[in-house]
Amino acid sequence: MSVGIDLAGKRALVTGGNRGIGRAIAGRLAEAGADVAVFARSQDSVAETAHELAAHGVRGLGLVGDVGSDEDIERAWEQLTGEFEGLDILVNNAGITRDGLLLRMKPADWDAVIDVNLTAAYRWCRRAVKQMVRQRSGRILNISSIVGVIGNPGQSNYAASKAGLIGFTKALAVEVAGRGITVNAIAPGFIETEMTHVLGDASQEEFLARIPLGRLGTTGNVADLALFLASPMSDYITGQVICVDGGLTR
Ligand code: NDP
Repeated sequence: MSVGIDLAGKRALVTGGNRGIGRAIAGRLAEAGADVAVFARSQDSVAETAHELAAHGVRGLGLVGDVGSDEDIERAWEQLTGEFEGLDILVNNAGITRDGLLLRMKPADWDAVIDVNLTAAYRWCRRAVKQMVRQRSGRILNISSIVGVIGNPGQSNYAASKAGLIGFTKALAVEVAGRGITVNAIAPGFIETEMTHVLGDASQEEFLARIPLGRLGTTGNVADLALFLASPMSDYITGQVICVDGGLTR
C-alpha cells in the first residue's frame, strides 16, 4: 500500500504503537521508509514491535512508558530526540475504554479515560510542536473515534475524550498552520482489535447491521489513511476529521 509514498528520512512516533491500530500505523510508516518509535507500557511488546519495524530497514525504537505520566513522556522524549534528532510525524493513538452508564460511572473511570485519550495528546503535542515549529514542518495525527462524532450510550467518558480530541485538533491546526505543520484527526468506526473483542457478539451484530459496507474495518484500513495523512500527498489538508467506518457516519 505504500507504493508512491516515500517517507525515507522522516521520523515518526506512534503512541500505543505496540498493538492494534497503532501497530498497523507504525508498520505502514516503516514500510514507507520512515524511522518509527513506539511508546506504550508493555515492555515486551514494545521491544518486539521495535524489532519488527527495524526489519523494514529503518530505525525502530521502543519507548516504554505511560501516557498518563508527564515524567514518562519527558524521559521518552529525551530518548527519542537523542536517537532520532527530531520528529516529523506524531501519531496520538494510545486509548482506553472504561464503559458504563453515567449514573454508574465512577470518577476514576471518567478521569482515566480523559487523561489517556485526551490529555496525553496535549502532553505529547506540547513537546512535538515546539520542535516542529523550529523545523517549520510536521504532521500530527490524532486517533479519535466516530463515538466522538455521534456519541454512544455507556461511553460518555470515551465520547467526551474523543470529541475533545477533535476540538483540540481543529484549534491546534489553526495555531500551527503558518509553521508548515498539519494536524488532522482520524475517526475509526468499528475496527477489529482487542478493544472491540471485549464487546459481546450481540453488540458486534448490532454495529454490523448499521455499517453500509457490511463488514468491520481492519487496522490496515486505518493505517492506510494515516500513511496518506503523514505523506506529502495530504499537504493541503489540515484541521479535518476523517471517518474510516464503512459509511456508518454520514
Ligand atoms: P487496543 O486496546 O488494541 O490498543 C490500545 C493501545 O494503547 C495499546 O498499544 C496500549 O499499549 C496503549 N495504551 C493504553 N493505555 C496506555 C497508557 N496509559 N500509556 C501508554 N499506552 C497506552 O486499542 P485499538 O488499537 O483498538 O485502539 C487504538 C486507538 O484507536 C484508541 O485511541 C482507540 O480509542 C481508537 N479507536 C479504536 C476503535 C476500534 O474499533 N478498535 C474505534 C475507534 C477508535 P499498552 O497497554 O502496552 O500500554
